[in-house]
Amino acid sequence: NLTSGIVGLANVGKSTFFQAITKSKLGNPANYPFATIEPEEARVIVPSNELNKLSKLYNSKKKINAILKIFDIAGLVRGASDNKGLGNSFLNDIRSVDGIFQIVRAFKDNEITHIEGNINPVRDLIIVQDELILKDMEFIENSIEKLEIQLKHKNNKQINELTSIEQQLESLKIAYDLLLNGQKIINKKDWLNYQIDALNSHNLLTAKPSIILINVNENDFFNQSNEFLIDIENWVKEFSPDSSIILFSANYETKLSEIQNENEINFESKSALPKIIQEMRKALNLISFYTCGNIESRQWTIRKLTSCPKAAGVIHTDFEKTFINAELIKFNDIKDLNPPFDEKSLKSKGKIQRVGKNYIVEDGDILHFKAAA
Ligand code: GDP
Repeated sequence: NLTSGIVGLANVGKSTFFQAITKSKLGNPANYPFATIEPEEARVIVPSNELNKLSKLYNSKKKINAILKIFDIAGLVRGASDNKGLGNSFLNDIRSVDGIFQIVRAFKDNEITHIEGNINPVRDLIIVQDELILKDMEFIENSIEKLEIQLKHKNNKQINELTSIEQQLESLKIAYDLLLNGQKIINKKDWLNYQIDALNSHNLLTAKPSIILINVNENDFFNQSNEFLIDIENWVKEFSPDSSIILFSANYETKLSEIQNENEINFESKSALPKIIQEMRKALNLISFYTCGNIESRQWTIRKLTSCPKAAGVIHTDFEKTFINAELIKFNDIKDLNPPFDEKSLKSKGKIQRVGKNYIVEDGDILHFKAAA
């Protein structure tokens, strides 16, 4: 299960946003069966119109959405990479997440101090990015040193290991040059597969996909505009082009999370949270497949380009090993149908395909797996 973390300077609205998530209808689903949740971890439901439709079609007793884990990571300060302030604990927490939400303050409020003195989102984006870049450079310097020692002590018989060390060194050096030029590792679009594999083993901060959440006041959120937006967009285009930008209001999300149950408001159409969750899923290359029946309809998460047996393995590890084949229904083939619905009627129309171990699962697929007992 992939995780994402919230980062940003102090007083930009991270905890406010995190608390709003935790309390919201989409947050910490009660029917989620596993493990106790840490105070700094939230689980949010991944909204899915497909699942809503499928659970009605199949007349399912239960509807189980996929979740995304979100961590509240301690605030960052200028100089964190030198171990000032909360430096190290922050950096250890952030190394373990797969994707980053960076919250930037663009709301004005004289009551709330800004640690840098005034509101300037681009300056703040630069502070955070510089810290991440500096920390990656430090990680890379240490790794290169260790790898070069290993290289010296290997003899030529250990060819496989040598290639791996050489490939890592090569990839790390390219990454280092990028960072030196103020660019994140993820900004380079033509990494080769073996270089990506080599870099992945180092858990580098600027190789993680990120989404920029701009905390604005309610009016700006409703209008989807802000006086700093153009500057932010220009900066992001050049220095963080992988990041999508989402305007939200931490205060408004808090209000929504407090009134949603009483007033039965149409929460999902007003909150920025569904969009925030969906953008992170996209950034992490995650897609959904579904298992449906009248007991439950359930959404499952896989990475793009996952094979059918690997997808079965998400449900239960044994299913991957004992996978025989699967019956596949395409969401598009049934999205316009209405209950009562019977899969047999699809079979006669040829809308149920049998797929084998080489089938690559696509977003929205409905699958029934067959595995050896
Ligand atoms: P963190 O340090 O980034 O976790 O920031 P907090 O969430 O603790 O917020 C710092 C202060 O800013 C708190 O007093 C919040 O109530 C306030 N705050 C957070 N978001 C907003 C917002 O959207 N508008 C306004 N006016 N204040 C906010």
